[in-house]
Amino acid sequence: MRIESITLRKIKMRLKAPFETSFGVIHDRTVVLVELVADGITGWSEVTVSNGPIFNSETVGTAWLILREFLAPLVLGKELRSASEVPGLFAAIRGHEMARAGFENALWDVEAQQKNLLLAKLLGGTQSEIKCGVSLGVQACPEKLLEIVAAELRSGYQRIKLKIKPGKDLDFVRAVRKAHPDILLSVDANSAYSLADMEHLKRFDEFNLLMMEQPLWWDDIANHAKLQKNLRTPICLDESIRHVRDAETAIELGAARIINIKLGRVGGHSSAREIQGFCLARNIPTWCGGMLECGIGRAHNIAVASLPGYTLPGDVSASKRYWEEDVIDPPVEVTPHGTIQIPGGPGLGYHVRRDLIDRWTIEKETWRAS
Ligand SMILES: [Mg+2]
Repeated sequence: MRIESITLRKIKMRLKAPFETSFGVIHDRTVVLVELVADGITGWSEVTVSNGPIFNSETVGTAWLILREFLAPLVLGKELRSASEVPGLFAAIRGHEMARAGFENALWDVEAQQKNLLLAKLLGGTQSEIKCGVSLGVQACPEKLLEIVAAELRSGYQRIKLKIKPGKDLDFVRAVRKAHPDILLSVDANSAYSLADMEHLKRFDEFNLLMMEQPLWWDDIANHAKLQKNLRTPICLDESIRHVRDAETAIELGAARIINIKLGRVGGHSSAREIQGFCLARNIPTWCGGMLECGIGRAHNIAVASLPGYTLPGDVSASKRYWEEDVIDPPVEVTPHGTIQIPGGPGLGYHVRRDLIDRWTIEKETWRAS
């Protein structure tokens, strides 16, 4: 595959409802899309950055700069046999995982189309449908949260995850657990607590949670090990895991019993597969997390979650939960029993709506091989 051109775009999409986490409230998403052409075939991917450095250190602005100044020159005009060779080209670049994933994942889409294979199959996916959960933002009061949980359960979702932060945690989780004693329930703190909150966090053990996601510092593994020793609830690490070595460290130290794999956070499909392989070999359950993706990122996530070892319901849910209209056709839909069917191939398995992408584009830049 010879990489001929790369187009980077920002599109503006309004969320159906504001989403609140311990970081703050999000109303709109600036979605960064990569359109990569190799051998005349167009591949798409999404750079899952936020506007500000609030999830990891990357932003829309830093990703754009890194893609233009450092990554594009390393891949344009290059002849590659497989997208799995991209991480080798980027070996000298430190960090900037989401920017790197943007290029690599678009090339995986090209490779799948060229081989007339569904991306999920090319990656080694074996599941014909994936289990879906929902991630619910922080709500004003437990009563409001209960209404939303009931609606999501009626839609069939198999796991409810509650975003929590200090002051909006125990009472909310208690109310949901009391109303639904048997559902798969988890919480995600997005690093809102510290080790000084140990006694407080131990109180979550009474709720029989599937997991507590990333309670402590985003860049810390060792203190999660100290916490896990004192908790019955399994800790799942999200923000702290950037590559397979982080996953190895976390499991060896006992800092987590579950790993959340996010394509952007770990630098793309190759890295995600390394973590998946590591976890599978050690019976560590994994699942695919979400970054409020549009349909393109969502389609990549569906492919990832079809691999062996993704045994827990993930955050990949229906397009209509987030968007009035999505950039893929058909939009992602969830079955009445809370699963997403893996689409037919080739490539992402969804048609990319270039008409909508063009209409919503607010900035665009193309680089071509000379
Ligand atoms: Mg998380």
